[in-house]
Amino acid sequence: MNLAHWLAIILAISSIIYPNRPYAADDIQHSLLRADQLRSSEPAEFKVILAALETQVDKMSTEQLHYFNYLSAYKLSFQGQFDKAVTIYSQILNSNANDTLRFRANMSIINSHAISKNWSQGLAHLAINIDLLPSIQPKEIHQLGLLIAAMFYNQIRQYELGLNYAKRLEAKVSQGRNFCIAHNLKLESLFKLELLEEDDPQIREGIEACQQSNEVVMESAIYSYIAALYLNKDKPDEAINILESNYSDLKATKYAHFLAVFDSLLSVAYLKTDTLERAEEHALTAIDYSTNIGNNEPTVTAYRVLYQIAESRGDHMMALEYHKNYAEADKAYLDDIKTKHLAFQLAEHQAAEQKSRIGLLDKQNNLLKIEQRLARSEAENNRLFIALLIAIITLLSFWGYKSWMTQRRLKQLAEFDALTGVFNRGHFTQLAQSALQYCHNSDIYLSCILFDLDKFKTINDSYGHACGDWVLKKVADVCKVQGRSNDIFARLGGEEFCILLPGCDLLTATKLAETCRKKIAQIDSSDSGAEFMITASFGVTDAKLSGYDLEKITADADMAMYQSKHDGRNRTTVFGLVDSDENAESEGIESRQGQLTL
Ligand code: GH3
Ligand code: MG
Ligand code: MG
Repeated sequence: MNLAHWLAIILAISSIIYPNRPYAADDIQHSLLRADQLRSSEPAEFKVILAALETQVDKMSTEQLHYFNYLSAYKLSFQGQFDKAVTIYSQILNSNANDTLRFRANMSIINSHAISKNWSQGLAHLAINIDLLPSIQPKEIHQLGLLIAAMFYNQIRQYELGLNYAKRLEAKVSQGRNFCIAHNLKLESLFKLELLEEDDPQIREGIEACQQSNEVVMESAIYSYIAALYLNKDKPDEAINILESNYSDLKATKYAHFLAVFDSLLSVAYLKTDTLERAEEHALTAIDYSTNIGNNEPTVTAYRVLYQIAESRGDHMMALEYHKNYAEADKAYLDDIKTKHLAFQLAEHQAAEQKSRIGLLDKQNNLLKIEQRLARSEAENNRLFIALLIAIITLLSFWGYKSWMTQRRLKQLAEFDALTGVFNRGHFTQLAQSALQYCHNSDIYLSCILFDLDKFKTINDSYGHACGDWVLKKVADVCKVQGRSNDIFARLGGEEFCILLPGCDLLTATKLAETCRKKIAQIDSSDSGAEFMITASFGVTDAKLSGYDLEKITADADMAMYQSKHDGRNRTTVFGLVDSDENAESEGIESRQGQLTL
């Protein structure tokens, strides 16, 4: 396939993309579609529509603007300004335009690189379109993508790849121009891969496909493969037959590339049949047709034939001249092949490198994902840990609170009398001893009041135990509020109470005892549900009289209390003023055999 004709073929094919779209001239979208539709068949009208669209640019959507730019680039390439066109196509390819437009823009880039023989760039862009191909919906554009891939690969002599795309294209069409091109490209690949025999049924199918769509050039190309196959098998007559019988049709197309092929093949065939003049004639024609095509196989073949003819004629000068031409053409042609091969290798190498780079990125990505997962699970663990910690702390706090409550209860039980709420005997003993000790050491007053309820048994017996309890509680309550905060008030047992008064002299203690006695006697028993009198007998002493020993001081107070009982109850007796009359007198307390009546 001749590169110079790529553009023409693609333009012709692309013109069938939007054959019957409705058109409304005042509508931007329809104008764009219309311009696209006409761009190769009606270049003049295309230019007019495009110029009109140029004034509407500011009203276009982004997508429409991309489309307009695509058509403008087409206009530039049509005018031969390929570089400018490629710049715009590249912008579209790298933009957010839809995949189909990007694909089409990139096809034009590939085409442009193919024309300028920039194989490396062409391959790079071909790779982009091969990636985009699965997402290309319009079937004409999808087919065009396959066609360009097959053409490009055949062009750079990667016939296996070319064959693959040609077959894919062939599978998608059943008639028309593309069907013929698909066959042609497939046969070209098979021929170059030496997988084609002259009697292969695919050859007939290809010829029929191209005859149906009246594609003389493509059909001729197939004949050239058959002729070459005959020549390879040393059957020059068959080659001449097939080439000559189709020569005039091909000549009518003026398609120089295949005419050069035909003539070069004929020159070889005639040389083999020793028809030297005809061989020379066709060789010279082949060179003539090839002049503007560049390095190609027909030129090489034609010069080789000419040099062999000259040699066989004994014209050594001519032979040498043609040989020189042949060697030059052959070298240029081989260089061309080498360049294509290198470009492909480079592209493959870049693709492999990109693949390994992607692989590396994937690995890094996976690593990152694992790290993120790890961080997430770490955070989750931390959350769990914190939750656990909170649970433990709550549990510990609860336990702490419970044990504090228990301790408090135990302390309460250990220190206080459950019924009356005053100190119990045990705790009283402890507190009283340390208070006595302290007052003794500091030489501070200390007094002791002891009292016992009168005839309490009778209350119990008459009104019940519960009533007795009520009395005990009531007595404790009224006495509690009479003293000071550092007084040590305790129930020593049964209905017997004691108040130890640090820093309190005997007179004050006696007055307090009297106050308590009176308050007890004033208790209104009716709250208990019964009417009765509540009284108590009091005994008072102090450290001056009894010393700082707990047992002694309480025993003396007890003795004074019993004195009160003995004297008729409901009274207060101060212990043994007999032994310290002077003291008692100085305090102004009247005493009678140790008993003080206030
Ligand atoms: P006296 O005037 O001589 O002290 O006579 P009394 O009846 O008060 O003395 P006695 O020692 O004969 O009786 C004390 C009674 O106190 C006997 C006991 O049943 C009662 N008692 C002791 N502890 C409690 C208590 O916690 N609740 C009740 N309801 N009664 C108690
Ligand atoms: Mg009693
Ligand atoms: Mg008693």
